[in-house]
Amino acid sequence: MGSPNAALWSLVDARLGAVKEYAPEPLEATAERLGVPVDRLIKLDANENPYGPTPAALEAVQRYGDLHRYPDPLARRLRRALSSFVGADPVQIVVGNGSDELIELILRLVRPDDRGRGVCEILSCPPTFGMYAFYGGTDGIPVREIPRDAEFGVDLGAIAAVCQADPRPRILFLASPNNPDGGPLPDDQLERLLGLPLLVVLDEAYVEFGGPSRASQVAQRDNLVVLRTFSKWAGLAGMRIGYGVCPSRLAELLLKLKSPYNVNGPAQAAALATLADAQTALDRVAAIVAERGRMAEALASIPYLRPYPSQANYHLCRLEGIEVERFQAHMEERGILLRYFEGGRLDGHIRITVGTPTQNDAVLTALVAF
Ligand code: PMP
Repeated sequence: MGSPNAALWSLVDARLGAVKEYAPEPLEATAERLGVPVDRLIKLDANENPYGPTPAALEAVQRYGDLHRYPDPLARRLRRALSSFVGADPVQIVVGNGSDELIELILRLVRPDDRGRGVCEILSCPPTFGMYAFYGGTDGIPVREIPRDAEFGVDLGAIAAVCQADPRPRILFLASPNNPDGGPLPDDQLERLLGLPLLVVLDEAYVEFGGPSRASQVAQRDNLVVLRTFSKWAGLAGMRIGYGVCPSRLAELLLKLKSPYNVNGPAQAAALATLADAQTALDRVAAIVAERGRMAEALASIPYLRPYPSQANYHLCRLEGIEVERFQAHMEERGILLRYFEGGRLDGHIRITVGTPTQNDAVLTALVAF
């Protein structure tokens, strides 16, 4: 007879054996690998905000005096401040440890039980943000992928056909603007999707760079959730604060399901300070949007690059007729980190986050020199 734990180990292996750990290389390791000091790296590979947090947010964290106390588990002040920022009732808002946490919380709430009640599957429309399918894998929920068309448009016909063939409820994740191409989901398409037996989770991580947001529409719907985050527009990716605007019944249940102290005290303080002085962050967003326009034109003039139109803080580009490895080495020698996609539909594509004007100039100089 094997170890009494053998069955347990085989179960947990079966549960997660196929899941690939999410572990991008730490920046210090990249710096060492490339022989470039960390502060000389031009990090444009993760759609972060090159300006960082606002001065008010930084100060709120530095002055935070309650590290010895538990934070408000219901983030009441932050949810009230968010309610005026997004135009929704505080009872519709749930704050999470990044919007990543909310993606998983929602999935845990609606996943099928032993009798098959709950959503029968996750619909994801690749190329898109990988976390929707990732959490399907970790939480044991089937994922059905409905690929986007050549211009990264959503295949509404295919989604409708899946729902018609089997009208059990499903959860559909769509990012608007989409990561990695930066294209938005048009209003009429959202409207059609909301008419299907779907819980539509609209991921607006980049909406401040190219709205409008649909958060204020959630109150009139029972099957629309809008996810937003402080990671991009507010430069707080490291603090991990995202939020969902949900039908109030769903919000109430998510608040019960989440870990009590999922959003730490300094993170709540940083988010509150950002909102109290939102214009500063929005001015930076405007600077990034202006640079996005300049970069779009400049990238289009590079003979071996085909950039796609973007409403977000990055540009997806197809590399044409060049060797990606040699290109990557050329950029990395100059300390420039971009996102490289390998295999499948995005093979030979790169994603360039919009940086400061100086960083963008360095990218353009390196691109021209290749
Ligand atoms: N959604 C999309 C489309 C993203 O690109 C990202 C970040 N890469 C996230 C959500 C996660 O954001 P957060 O930092 O709030 O977890």
